[in-house]
Amino acid sequence: MKKVYFDNAATTPMHPEVIVSMVKSMQETCGNPSSTHAFGRAAKSLVETARKSIAKHLNVSSSEIIFTAGASEANNLILHNAVCNLNVKTIITSRIEHHAVLHSIEKLYKTYQIDVLIVDVDTKGFIDYKHLETLLHNASGKTLVSLMYANNEIGTLLDCDKVSALCEKFDALFHSDTVQGIGHYAIDLQKTPIDFIVASAHKFHGPKGVGFAYFKKGFGIEPLIFGGSQEKGARAGTENVHAIFGMAAALDLAYAHLEKDKQHVFGLKKYMIDQLQSTFESVKINGTFEGASYNILSVRFNEKSDLLPFQLDLKGIACSSGSACQSGSSAGSHVLQTILPLQEQEKPAIRFSFSHFNTKEEVDYVVSALKAIFK
Ligand code: PLP
Repeated sequence: MKKVYFDNAATTPMHPEVIVSMVKSMQETCGNPSSTHAFGRAAKSLVETARKSIAKHLNVSSSEIIFTAGASEANNLILHNAVCNLNVKTIITSRIEHHAVLHSIEKLYKTYQIDVLIVDVDTKGFIDYKHLETLLHNASGKTLVSLMYANNEIGTLLDCDKVSALCEKFDALFHSDTVQGIGHYAIDLQKTPIDFIVASAHKFHGPKGVGFAYFKKGFGIEPLIFGGSQEKGARAGTENVHAIFGMAAALDLAYAHLEKDKQHVFGLKKYMIDQLQSTFESVKINGTFEGASYNILSVRFNEKSDLLPFQLDLKGIACSSGSACQSGSSAGSHVLQTILPLQEQEKPAIRFSFSHFNTKEEVDYVVSALKAIFK
C-alpha cells in the first residue's frame, strides 16, 4: 500500500543526514559531559558546540540556551520560573495555545492564585491586539504574555513584533511557544525581542525527546528537575548528548535550505487547496490562508464522515484529526471549538501538514482517496 505522511506538525521524519551524523557521534563519543577526563570533555564539547550553533541561528548568546527533553518541558520551565522566581502575578494568554502552555498555566493558577487573563481571538485564529493592549493596561502586578508563534492546528501566525512592542510599552514579559516556528522561519531575537522561547527538534527533522528553552540574559532560572548542576543548575540530569548534537545538525540543515524548502512546501499547500476546492465545492479552510504558516492546512468538509482520519489511515495516509467534536479518546479540538460556530464544529475536519519530503503526487493520491471516501 502507498504511504503518505502529511502529519509533519505532529512530528517530522528525521533527516537522513542527521541520522548519519548522530550514529557517528554515538560511535565516537561515549563520555559523560560532566566528567573531567578526555572522554567527558569530548562529550561536553559536542553539547557546547551544539549550543553555540543553535544560539547563532537565533542571534543570541549560547549561555541563554537551556537544553530540555522537548518543548512541553521547556514551556513548563519558563512558566513555572515566571511565577515562582520572577514574581509574575498575571499571565495573559489565549484559548488556542498548546496544552503544554494552557495546562501549565492552569496548574500555576490553582497553586499560586495568579490572575489569568484571556485575550480574544477571531474566527481566523488572530489575536485581538487592541484587546491585548487593554488587558496589559488593566493587569495588576508583574505580567507575562504567553502567545504562540504559529498555531499547531490551524497555522495562524502571531505578529510577534506587535506583541513584543506592546510588552515593552507595558513592561511585561513575553513568552512565545515557537515550536512550529523554529526551523521554519528565520527568528532573530535581536530584531524581535522575546524574553522566552522554546523549540522541539522533532518538528524540524531532528530526534524526538529533545528541545530547548531560551531565557533572555539576566533572568535567574529556578529548576523543575533537581539533583545535578548540569545546564548551570537550571536542569539536573546527564545531557542527552547525541540528541542535542542531532538537534543542532537538524537546525543547521533547516536554516541552510529554508527558502528553497519553504517555496516547495508552500507550493504543495497551494496545490492541495486548489485540488480540494475543485473536487469538493464546499470545502473550507479552518483559520486563514493569508497570515498562516506555509506548511499547515486545516480544512473542513460538508460531506458526512465520522471517522475520516481512520478512513485515510486505512489508505496509508497519515494526517491529523482537527474536528472539534471527534468521538473517541480525544475530547476534540479546543482550537476549533474556540474559532468556529457550533454548526461548523460538527463537520469533519482534517489537518494536513507538509514537509520538503512531500510531493505533488502525494497530494493527488490524498485527494483521490478523499473522493473515494466521500463517494
Ligand atoms: N507546543 C506546540 C505548539 C506544539 O506543536 C507541540 C507539539 O506538538 C508542543 C508544544 C510540545 O512539544 P514536545 O512534543 O516537544 O513536548
